[in-house]
Amino acid sequence: MTMRNRRAVLSAIAATATLTLTLAACGQNGEGGKDEKKGSAKGSTVGIAMPTKSSERWIADGNNVVKSLKAKGYKTKLVFGEDDPDQQVSQIENMITQGVSALVVAAIDNKSLNNVLQEAADAKIPVIAYDRLILDSKNVDYYATFDNEKVGELQATSLIEKIGLTSGKKGPFNLELFAGSNDDNNTKYFFNGAMKVLQPYIDKKQLVVKSRQTKLNQVTTLRWDGATAQKRMDDILTSAYAKDRVDAVLSPYDGISIGIISALKSDGYGSAGKPLPPVSGQDAEVASVKSIIAGEQYSTVYKDTRELAKRAVTMVDDVLNDKKPETNDDKTYDNGAKVVPAYLLEPVAVTKENYEKTLVDGGYYTRKDLGLK
Ligand code: BGC
Repeated sequence: MTMRNRRAVLSAIAATATLTLTLAACGQNGEGGKDEKKGSAKGSTVGIAMPTKSSERWIADGNNVVKSLKAKGYKTKLVFGEDDPDQQVSQIENMITQGVSALVVAAIDNKSLNNVLQEAADAKIPVIAYDRLILDSKNVDYYATFDNEKVGELQATSLIEKIGLTSGKKGPFNLELFAGSNDDNNTKYFFNGAMKVLQPYIDKKQLVVKSRQTKLNQVTTLRWDGATAQKRMDDILTSAYAKDRVDAVLSPYDGISIGIISALKSDGYGSAGKPLPPVSGQDAEVASVKSIIAGEQYSTVYKDTRELAKRAVTMVDDVLNDKKPETNDDKTYDNGAKVVPAYLLEPVAVTKENYEKTLVDGGYYTRKDLGLK
Protein backbone atom coordinates (compact mmCIF):
# COMPACT_ATOMS: atom_id res chain seq x y z
CA MET A 1 0.00 0.00 0.00
CA THR A 2 1.40 3.42 -0.87
CA MET A 3 1.82 6.02 1.84
CA ARG A 4 -1.00 8.05 0.39
CA ASN A 5 -3.37 5.08 0.20
CA ARG A 6 -2.50 4.10 3.73
CA ARG A 7 -3.23 7.64 4.87
CA ALA A 8 -6.54 7.58 3.01
CA VAL A 9 -7.54 4.32 4.65
CA LEU A 10 -6.46 5.56 8.07
CA SER A 11 -8.35 8.77 7.71
CA ALA A 12 -11.45 6.94 6.47
CA ILE A 13 -11.28 4.68 9.53
CA ALA A 14 -10.76 7.69 11.79
CA ALA A 15 -13.62 9.56 10.17
CA THR A 16 -15.95 6.60 10.62
CA ALA A 17 -14.86 6.29 14.23
CA THR A 18 -15.48 9.96 14.83
CA LEU A 19 -18.88 9.82 13.18
CA THR A 20 -19.82 6.84 15.32
CA LEU A 21 -18.65 8.68 18.43
CA THR A 22 -20.51 11.82 17.44
CA LEU A 23 -23.69 9.89 16.83
CA ALA A 24 -23.31 8.04 20.10
CA ALA A 25 -22.71 11.34 21.89
CA CYS A 26 -25.89 12.75 20.37
CA GLY A 27 -27.82 9.70 21.49
CA GLN A 28 -29.04 9.03 17.96
CA ASN A 29 -29.64 5.70 16.38
CA GLY A 30 -28.19 6.32 12.96
CA GLU A 31 -31.45 6.51 11.07
CA GLY A 32 -32.03 10.21 10.80
CA GLY A 33 -29.43 11.02 8.08
CA LYS A 34 -29.31 14.77 7.68
CA ASP A 35 -30.81 15.43 11.11
CA GLU A 36 -27.85 13.73 12.69
CA LYS A 37 -25.55 16.08 10.82
CA LYS A 38 -27.56 19.08 12.02
CA GLY A 39 -27.52 17.82 15.55
CA SER A 40 -23.77 17.45 15.50
CA ALA A 41 -22.92 20.68 13.65
CA LYS A 42 -22.99 23.02 16.65
CA GLY A 43 -20.20 22.20 19.01
CA SER A 44 -18.27 20.36 16.32
CA THR A 45 -14.73 21.35 15.40
CA VAL A 46 -14.04 23.24 12.19
CA GLY A 47 -10.52 23.02 10.75
CA ILE A 48 -8.88 26.19 9.41
CA ALA A 49 -5.74 25.98 7.26
CA MET A 50 -4.00 29.31 6.69
CA PRO A 51 -0.94 29.68 4.45
CA THR A 52 1.64 31.48 6.58
CA LYS A 53 2.33 33.52 9.66
CA SER A 54 4.94 35.56 7.81
CA SER A 55 2.26 38.02 6.72
CA GLU A 56 0.06 39.81 9.24
CA ARG A 57 -3.03 39.51 7.15
CA TRP A 58 -3.19 35.71 7.44
CA ILE A 59 -2.74 35.86 11.20
CA ALA A 60 -5.66 38.30 11.33
CA ASP A 61 -7.68 36.07 8.99
CA GLY A 62 -7.02 33.02 11.19
CA ASN A 63 -8.01 34.87 14.35
CA ASN A 64 -11.10 36.36 12.76
CA VAL A 65 -12.33 33.01 11.45
CA VAL A 66 -11.82 31.45 14.90
CA LYS A 67 -13.70 34.32 16.55
CA SER A 68 -16.65 34.12 14.15
CA LEU A 69 -16.87 30.32 14.46
CA LYS A 70 -16.78 30.46 18.25
CA ALA A 71 -19.54 33.07 18.20
CA LYS A 72 -21.68 30.51 16.39
CA GLY A 73 -20.90 27.77 18.89
CA TYR A 74 -18.20 25.86 17.01
CA LYS A 75 -14.86 24.66 18.25
CA THR A 76 -11.85 25.38 16.05
CA LYS A 77 -8.51 24.00 15.03
CA LEU A 78 -6.31 26.63 13.37
CA VAL A 79 -3.07 25.75 11.57
CA PHE A 80 -0.56 27.72 9.48
CA GLY A 81 1.40 26.03 6.69
CA GLU A 82 4.49 28.28 6.71
CA ASP A 83 4.28 28.64 2.93
CA ASP A 84 5.18 24.96 2.47
CA PRO A 85 2.59 23.15 0.31
CA ASP A 86 3.53 19.67 1.64
CA GLN A 87 3.16 20.86 5.21
CA GLN A 88 -0.28 22.24 4.39
CA VAL A 89 -1.35 18.92 2.86
CA SER A 90 -0.33 16.98 5.96
CA GLN A 91 -1.95 19.52 8.27
CA ILE A 92 -5.23 19.10 6.40
CA GLU A 93 -4.84 15.31 6.49
CA ASN A 94 -4.39 15.48 10.24
CA MET A 95 -7.50 17.56 10.67
CA ILE A 96 -9.50 15.09 8.57
CA THR A 97 -8.18 12.28 10.75
CA GLN A 98 -9.18 14.21 13.85
CA GLY A 99 -12.72 14.31 12.49
CA VAL A 100 -13.35 18.01 11.82
CA SER A 101 -16.85 18.76 10.56
CA ALA A 102 -15.77 21.26 7.88
CA LEU A 103 -12.59 22.80 6.46
CA VAL A 104 -11.76 26.42 5.66
CA VAL A 105 -8.65 26.49 3.48
CA ALA A 106 -6.49 29.32 2.15
CA ALA A 107 -4.23 27.34 -0.17
CA ILE A 108 -0.47 27.77 -0.45
CA ASP A 109 -0.20 25.99 -3.80
CA ASN A 110 -3.60 25.99 -5.47
CA LYS A 111 -2.89 22.74 -7.31
CA SER A 112 -1.49 20.61 -4.51
CA LEU A 113 -4.68 19.86 -2.62
CA ASN A 114 -6.52 17.55 -4.98
CA ASN A 115 -5.78 14.28 -3.15
CA VAL A 116 -6.32 15.58 0.32
CA LEU A 117 -9.62 17.19 -0.67
CA GLN A 118 -10.71 13.82 -2.03
CA GLU A 119 -10.00 12.42 1.43
CA ALA A 120 -12.15 15.21 2.88
CA ALA A 121 -14.95 14.41 0.45
CA ASP A 122 -14.75 10.70 1.29
CA ALA A 123 -15.19 11.65 4.94
CA LYS A 124 -18.12 13.96 3.98
CA ILE A 125 -16.28 17.05 5.13
CA PRO A 126 -17.32 20.19 3.23
CA VAL A 127 -14.58 22.56 2.10
CA ILE A 128 -14.71 26.34 1.81
CA ALA A 129 -11.91 27.92 -0.23
CA TYR A 130 -10.83 30.99 1.70
CA ASP A 131 -9.62 33.97 -0.33
CA ARG A 132 -7.60 31.77 -2.73
CA LEU A 133 -9.38 29.39 -5.07
CA ILE A 134 -8.29 25.73 -4.96
CA LEU A 135 -7.88 24.41 -8.50
CA ASP A 136 -8.54 21.11 -10.28
CA SER A 137 -10.73 19.65 -7.55
CA LYS A 138 -14.46 19.13 -7.59
CA ASN A 139 -14.38 18.87 -3.82
CA VAL A 140 -14.52 22.59 -3.16
CA ASP A 141 -18.00 23.58 -2.05
CA TYR A 142 -17.89 27.37 -1.88
CA TYR A 143 -15.43 30.22 -2.24
CA ALA A 144 -15.29 33.39 -0.13
CA THR A 145 -13.03 36.12 -1.48
CA PHE A 146 -12.73 39.72 -2.63
CA ASP A 147 -13.24 41.02 -6.12
CA ASN A 148 -9.72 40.11 -7.16
CA GLU A 149 -9.74 41.76 -10.57
CA LYS A 150 -10.91 44.97 -8.92
CA VAL A 151 -7.90 44.78 -6.56
CA GLY A 152 -5.58 44.99 -9.58
CA GLU A 153 -7.60 47.81 -11.11
CA LEU A 154 -7.36 49.81 -7.88
CA GLN A 155 -3.60 49.26 -7.66
CA ALA A 156 -3.00 50.43 -11.23
CA THR A 157 -5.44 53.32 -11.01
CA SER A 158 -3.72 54.69 -7.91
CA LEU A 159 -0.42 54.80 -9.85
CA ILE A 160 -1.69 56.50 -12.99
CA GLU A 161 -3.59 59.05 -10.91
CA LYS A 162 -0.51 59.84 -8.87
CA ILE A 163 1.79 60.35 -11.86
CA GLY A 164 -0.86 62.52 -13.54
CA LEU A 165 -1.88 60.42 -16.54
CA THR A 166 -5.53 60.80 -15.62
CA SER A 167 -5.25 64.55 -15.22
CA GLY A 168 -3.72 65.45 -18.55
CA LYS A 169 0.01 64.65 -18.24
CA LYS A 170 1.26 62.82 -21.28
CA GLY A 171 4.46 61.17 -20.06
CA PRO A 172 6.21 59.09 -21.13
CA PHE A 173 6.63 57.64 -17.66
CA ASN A 174 8.74 54.61 -16.78
CA LEU A 175 6.83 51.82 -15.07
CA GLU A 176 7.93 48.45 -13.71
CA LEU A 177 5.59 45.54 -13.02
CA PHE A 178 5.53 42.99 -10.20
CA ALA A 179 3.00 40.18 -9.73
CA GLY A 180 2.31 37.67 -6.97
CA SER A 181 3.09 33.97 -6.65
CA ASN A 182 2.48 31.90 -9.74
CA ASP A 183 0.90 29.10 -7.67
CA ASP A 184 -1.79 31.44 -6.32
CA ASN A 185 -4.89 31.67 -8.49
CA ASN A 186 -5.43 35.29 -7.42
CA THR A 187 -2.19 36.40 -9.05
CA LYS A 188 -3.56 36.42 -12.57
CA TYR A 189 -6.73 38.24 -11.51
CA PHE A 190 -4.73 40.98 -9.80
CA PHE A 191 -2.35 41.28 -12.76
CA ASN A 192 -5.05 41.20 -15.43
CA GLY A 193 -7.09 43.78 -13.53
CA ALA A 194 -4.07 46.06 -13.35
CA MET A 195 -3.12 45.54 -16.99
CA LYS A 196 -6.65 46.41 -18.09
CA VAL A 197 -5.91 49.88 -16.74
CA LEU A 198 -2.22 50.11 -17.76
CA GLN A 199 -2.13 48.46 -21.19
CA PRO A 200 -3.81 51.31 -23.10
CA TYR A 201 -1.13 53.71 -21.81
CA ILE A 202 1.62 51.20 -22.64
CA ASP A 203 0.19 50.89 -26.16
CA LYS A 204 0.26 54.69 -26.55
CA LYS A 205 3.84 54.73 -25.16
CA GLN A 206 2.76 57.01 -22.33
CA LEU A 207 3.96 54.25 -20.04
CA VAL A 208 7.23 52.49 -20.87
CA VAL A 209 8.47 49.30 -19.20
CA LYS A 210 12.22 49.66 -19.67
CA SER A 211 13.03 46.15 -18.38
CA ARG A 212 10.73 44.86 -21.14
CA GLN A 213 9.35 42.40 -18.59
CA THR A 214 5.64 42.73 -19.22
CA LYS A 215 4.36 39.16 -19.37
CA LEU A 216 2.90 37.61 -16.26
CA ASN A 217 5.42 34.76 -16.26
CA GLN A 218 8.28 37.29 -16.29
CA VAL A 219 7.07 39.29 -13.32
CA THR A 220 5.75 36.80 -10.75
CA THR A 221 7.22 36.55 -7.24
CA LEU A 222 7.30 33.04 -5.79
CA ARG A 223 5.38 32.80 -2.47
CA TRP A 224 4.92 36.57 -2.48
CA ASP A 225 8.40 36.92 -1.00
CA GLY A 226 9.61 40.48 -0.35
CA ALA A 227 13.30 39.57 -0.56
CA THR A 228 12.77 37.94 -3.98
CA ALA A 229 11.07 41.12 -5.20
CA GLN A 230 13.84 43.28 -3.76
CA LYS A 231 16.44 41.29 -5.68
CA ARG A 232 14.46 41.58 -8.92
CA MET A 233 14.07 45.33 -8.45
CA ASP A 234 17.84 45.63 -7.77
CA ASP A 235 18.56 43.76 -11.00
CA ILE A 236 16.14 45.89 -13.00
CA LEU A 237 17.62 49.13 -11.65
CA THR A 238 21.10 47.97 -12.60
CA SER A 239 20.25 46.67 -16.04
CA ALA A 240 17.62 49.14 -17.29
CA TYR A 241 17.95 52.35 -15.29
CA ALA A 242 21.59 53.38 -15.50
CA LYS A 243 20.49 56.66 -17.07
CA ASP A 244 16.74 56.78 -16.46
CA ARG A 245 14.41 57.10 -13.50
CA VAL A 246 11.59 54.76 -12.50
CA ASP A 247 8.34 56.73 -12.24
CA ALA A 248 5.96 54.08 -10.87
CA VAL A 249 6.00 50.45 -9.71
CA LEU A 250 3.03 48.11 -9.74
CA SER A 251 3.28 45.93 -6.63
CA PRO A 252 0.62 43.32 -5.82
CA TYR A 253 1.19 42.99 -2.07
CA ASP A 254 2.54 45.08 0.81
CA GLY A 255 5.38 42.68 1.68
CA ILE A 256 6.57 42.92 -1.93
CA SER A 257 6.21 46.73 -1.87
CA ILE A 258 8.53 46.90 1.15
CA GLY A 259 11.16 44.88 -0.77
CA ILE A 260 10.80 47.11 -3.84
CA ILE A 261 11.11 50.29 -1.77
CA SER A 262 14.28 48.95 -0.09
CA ALA A 263 15.86 48.33 -3.50
CA LEU A 264 14.86 51.81 -4.65
CA LYS A 265 16.33 53.40 -1.52
CA SER A 266 19.61 51.50 -1.95
CA ASP A 267 19.75 53.03 -5.41
CA GLY A 268 19.44 56.56 -4.01
CA TYR A 269 15.70 57.08 -4.41
CA GLY A 270 13.94 58.79 -1.52
CA SER A 271 15.94 62.02 -1.45
CA ALA A 272 14.77 65.51 -2.44
CA GLY A 273 16.50 65.32 -5.80
CA LYS A 274 15.42 61.75 -6.48
CA PRO A 275 12.02 61.10 -4.91
CA LEU A 276 10.61 57.62 -4.52
CA PRO A 277 8.20 56.69 -7.31
CA PRO A 278 4.67 55.68 -6.30
CA VAL A 279 4.52 51.99 -5.39
CA SER A 280 1.18 50.22 -4.92
CA GLY A 281 0.40 47.37 -2.50
CA GLN A 282 -2.28 45.20 -0.97
CA ASP A 283 -3.61 44.17 2.46
CA ALA A 284 -3.07 47.41 4.40
CA GLU A 285 -0.50 45.71 6.63
CA VAL A 286 0.71 47.89 9.51
CA ALA A 287 4.27 48.33 8.19
CA SER A 288 2.92 49.51 4.85
CA VAL A 289 0.30 51.83 6.31
CA LYS A 290 3.08 53.39 8.40
CA SER A 291 5.16 53.69 5.23
CA ILE A 292 2.21 55.40 3.50
CA ILE A 293 1.84 57.82 6.39
CA ALA A 294 5.61 58.52 6.17
CA GLY A 295 5.21 59.29 2.43
CA GLU A 296 7.15 56.26 1.14
CA GLN A 297 4.75 53.57 -0.17
CA TYR A 298 2.04 55.33 -2.13
CA SER A 299 -1.02 53.09 -1.88
CA THR A 300 -2.38 49.79 -0.66
CA VAL A 301 -5.65 47.92 -1.04
CA TYR A 302 -7.65 47.33 2.11
CA LYS A 303 -9.51 44.03 2.33
CA ASP A 304 -11.42 43.79 5.58
CA THR A 305 -10.49 40.32 6.83
CA ARG A 306 -13.20 40.55 9.50
CA GLU A 307 -15.82 40.58 6.76
CA LEU A 308 -14.16 37.79 4.81
CA ALA A 309 -13.99 35.65 7.92
CA LYS A 310 -17.67 36.25 8.68
CA ARG A 311 -18.63 35.36 5.14
CA ALA A 312 -16.64 32.10 5.20
CA VAL A 313 -18.08 31.16 8.58
CA THR A 314 -21.63 31.81 7.41
CA MET A 315 -20.89 29.46 4.49
CA VAL A 316 -19.64 26.77 6.89
CA ASP A 317 -22.65 27.16 9.16
CA ASP A 318 -25.10 27.09 6.27
CA VAL A 319 -23.56 24.03 4.64
CA LEU A 320 -23.47 22.14 7.94
CA ASN A 321 -27.13 22.99 8.45
CA ASP A 322 -28.18 22.01 4.94
CA LYS A 323 -28.84 25.61 3.92
CA LYS A 324 -27.57 27.00 0.63
CA PRO A 325 -25.08 29.81 1.36
CA GLU A 326 -25.61 33.19 -0.27
CA THR A 327 -23.28 33.79 -3.23
CA ASN A 328 -22.96 36.72 -5.62
CA ASP A 329 -20.82 35.25 -8.38
CA ASP A 330 -21.63 31.81 -9.73
CA LYS A 331 -19.79 32.06 -13.02
CA THR A 332 -16.31 33.59 -12.74
CA TYR A 333 -14.43 31.10 -10.61
CA ASP A 334 -14.00 28.00 -12.73
CA ASN A 335 -11.35 25.93 -10.97
CA GLY A 336 -10.83 23.50 -13.83
CA ALA A 337 -13.11 20.85 -12.33
CA LYS A 338 -16.20 22.97 -11.63
CA VAL A 339 -17.39 26.54 -11.34
CA VAL A 340 -17.18 27.23 -7.63
CA PRO A 341 -20.02 29.42 -6.34
CA ALA A 342 -18.42 32.47 -4.78
CA TYR A 343 -19.11 35.48 -2.63
CA LEU A 344 -16.97 38.48 -3.58
CA LEU A 345 -16.39 41.35 -1.15
CA GLU A 346 -15.35 44.86 -2.17
CA PRO A 347 -11.71 45.93 -1.86
CA VAL A 348 -10.92 49.60 -1.10
CA ALA A 349 -7.95 51.68 -2.31
CA VAL A 350 -6.04 53.40 0.49
CA THR A 351 -3.57 56.30 0.31
CA LYS A 352 -2.42 58.94 2.77
CA GLU A 353 -5.61 60.83 1.90
CA ASN A 354 -8.07 58.29 3.25
CA TYR A 355 -6.28 55.85 5.59
CA GLU A 356 -7.86 57.41 8.68
CA LYS A 357 -11.36 57.24 7.31
CA THR A 358 -11.04 53.67 6.02
CA LEU A 359 -8.75 51.97 8.51
CA VAL A 360 -9.04 53.89 11.77
CA ASP A 361 -12.66 55.05 11.68
CA GLY A 362 -13.67 51.57 10.50
CA GLY A 363 -11.98 50.10 13.61
CA TYR A 364 -9.54 47.93 11.65
CA TYR A 365 -6.60 49.62 13.39
CA THR A 366 -6.29 51.98 16.30
CA ARG A 367 -4.23 55.15 15.88
CA LYS A 368 -1.76 53.55 18.28
CA ASP A 369 -1.38 50.49 16.00
CA LEU A 370 -0.25 52.91 13.31
CA GLY A 371 2.18 54.72 15.62
CA LEU A 372 -0.05 57.81 15.84
CA LYS A 373 -1.13 59.76 18.93
C1 BGC B 1 -4.27 37.41 -1.21
C2 BGC B 1 -3.67 38.76 -0.97
C3 BGC B 1 -2.29 38.64 -0.35
C4 BGC B 1 -1.45 37.62 -1.07
C5 BGC B 1 -0.15 37.38 -0.34
C6 BGC B 1 -3.31 36.57 -1.99
O1 BGC B 1 -3.87 35.34 -2.25
O2 BGC B 1 -5.50 37.56 -1.88
O3 BGC B 1 -4.51 39.53 -0.12
O4 BGC B 1 -1.65 39.89 -0.46
O5 BGC B 1 -2.13 36.41 -1.22
O6 BGC B 1 -0.36 36.85 0.92
